[in-house]
Amino acid sequence: MNGEKSIRLLIIDDDEDDLYLINDALSEVTETRYHSTTVKSALAAMAKLAAESFDVIISDYRLDHGTGIEFIKNVRLTGIDTPFILLTGLAGHLIDRAALEAGASDFLPKASLTGEILDRSIRYAMAHADRQRLLTAVLKATTSGVAVVNSAGELTLWNSRFSEFSETVFGDDRARLNRFADLVRRNIARDITVGDSTVEVHCTALPDGGNVLALHDVTARVTELRDRSLSEQRIRRIAMHDTLTGLPNRAAFNERLSSSLLAAAAEGGRLAILSLDFDRFKEVNDLFGHAAGDELLKRASERLLPLLRDNEYAARLGGDEFVLIQESPDEDSAIDLAKRVAASLSQSVEWQGRLIEAGVSIGISYFPDHGDKQDEILGNADLAMYRAKSGMGQSFCLFDASMDESIRDRRKIALDLRNAIHNNELMLHFQPQYGAARRDLVGFEVLLRWHCPTRGNVPPAEFILVAEENGMIKEIDEWVLRRACGIAAKWPLPAKIAVNISARAVCYPGIVDTIRSILIDTGLAPDRLELEVTETALVNDMNRALHILRQIKSCGISIAMDDFGTGYSSLSLLNSFPFDRIKIDRSFIHAVASNARAESIFRAVAGLGSALGVPMLVEGVETQEQLDFVRALGCDEIQGYFCGRPMSEADVRRLLVTQHMRPLGSPVDWVKSIDLDRDAVPALRESTG
Ligand code: C2E
Ligand code: CA
Ligand code: CA
Repeated sequence: MNGEKSIRLLIIDDDEDDLYLINDALSEVTETRYHSTTVKSALAAMAKLAAESFDVIISDYRLDHGTGIEFIKNVRLTGIDTPFILLTGLAGHLIDRAALEAGASDFLPKASLTGEILDRSIRYAMAHADRQRLLTAVLKATTSGVAVVNSAGELTLWNSRFSEFSETVFGDDRARLNRFADLVRRNIARDITVGDSTVEVHCTALPDGGNVLALHDVTARVTELRDRSLSEQRIRRIAMHDTLTGLPNRAAFNERLSSSLLAAAAEGGRLAILSLDFDRFKEVNDLFGHAAGDELLKRASERLLPLLRDNEYAARLGGDEFVLIQESPDEDSAIDLAKRVAASLSQSVEWQGRLIEAGVSIGISYFPDHGDKQDEILGNADLAMYRAKSGMGQSFCLFDASMDESIRDRRKIALDLRNAIHNNELMLHFQPQYGAARRDLVGFEVLLRWHCPTRGNVPPAEFILVAEENGMIKEIDEWVLRRACGIAAKWPLPAKIAVNISARAVCYPGIVDTIRSILIDTGLAPDRLELEVTETALVNDMNRALHILRQIKSCGISIAMDDFGTGYSSLSLLNSFPFDRIKIDRSFIHAVASNARAESIFRAVAGLGSALGVPMLVEGVETQEQLDFVRALGCDEIQGYFCGRPMSEADVRRLLVTQHMRPLGSPVDWVKSIDLDRDAVPALRESTG
């Protein structure tokens, strides 16, 4: 116990011998350090207590004026809660009990006093007092009035709230506390009126026959409840609105939709639900930061609100998802709303001196035509919205039942696709590209193949779109690029490879560095790599895309415009970037055989290339006639089933060996060469590698 504070004792006894006895006993104790002050009368003790504080009071039972018990009561009345130990010459249960009830912690006979007994009693008294103080603090802290009455009906403990209640009824008369407790006990389980308050009484029986009385001011609770409901209203107001845009949020929308549905169902009316989503919201966040994304959303809601008519309602469900309700739509009114909204929200937003164009897609579904449940109609509007997103041209789309199936499929594809790279389910095929006039091999387009263990071979047309929608395309495109470069770097001939880069991937930050490091890692010469990009990649954020393409081109990589003629076919785009090659989409050559107009379109498109001085590659050449037609127009290169299907890596090597046997650039009869080399696989069927 060294170093611990000594325990301060106040010892009261008028007998010198007794004092000696007590101090002698304390001196036996070595474990605890005591510091004792001795006084000979109760009066002197009161004076000491007023001036100093003590940890324990040890008092003789017999004092100059009255007993130790009376002394305890007087001390307690002054509010001093120091624990008491009473000492007496006469042992007896009666006094013992009276002492405890008065608040003494212990009652010790002087005759058997030893250091050990006294020390133990002092420490217990202190611990007991600490618990008592804790209880007092708790009682003080509660807003209820609490009192304990013993089996005789006398108050033994109460808090200040309880005496406040008592004062309200009987005035400041401590003696009446017991009467108040009595009154309370007779009104158990009833409300009593105390002054202006309505007080609820609770009573809990104690094991010794006494009771705990608890008084709760219900008046206070009623006001509290009213406050709470006010703040609930406030919280609700906040909770129903989206803090960023101020538009109603998902919770508000759900309420509105269900009441609109009820009303429409009751009147036999209809509802149109429009689901709206930005096409490039993620890119905006990636490229310009979240503050730019927020700005886009704020501007969107500012533009949206003035467009709405009385029967129209808009909410933001979260992220870049918005939804509109149109009540009692007529024939074309929902489409009209979609057009209005799309036109307004597709306009660019200025952000720190730059213009952001994020584009929107809108899906429309009707109640009851496309479902009568909230989730169903909303889900169907979403499906239509995804269709609008994936299709070119229109920014809105009406739901039809066939979408349901296909989109649900796409969600499942997305789940499987996530594991495809890691499970080695992806591989590459290569489709040869030839010079149209001299039939020389120019290079190969790299085409991705997915063999899914559960769904078999999934065509890229199906899964690339899913990968784009689910943000997986960046990883996939990088994988294709790395693998294709690695393969081509090991070929015996320096044939070029053309790798497709998705519209989304072009604008990803860091793409230039990624491509550079892939070339360094694989050792492929940059002039053997061509990237095929579609117009969509460029039109979305033209300046940035062109900037990136220039950086890529400056590494020595060439850039081809893919699927030319299917998108916007913007001439200014062709003028503003020096493409190395334009690939005329295969739909053009296919249309030629069927109608004369297509032929003149084809001539015009092909003429454009020669006017710009950019080599033209015609995709999808399947027949000799098509080849002749293309040649006659002076197109530079061709790719198609007629001269070579997409083939496995092994087939490419076999093809390259035959190429090697001829002087580079000399004419090749492609059909024969592939026939010769692919003994196991028929030439005109795509090899499965
Ligand atoms: P694309 O870039 O236009 O690729 C050419 C597509 O035309 C390939 O389809 C090819 O198999 C097909 N094709 C080639 N010759 C003929 C022909 O004579 N007749 C017909 N009817 N079709 C022919 P595939 O492999 O199914 O790829 C479809 C699309 O998937 C590609 O169109 C491309 O946009 C995308 N894709 C394929 N691989 C990748 C890739 O690695 N990354 C990205 N981002 N997209 C890819
Ligand atoms: Ca392509
Ligand atoms: Ca193409």
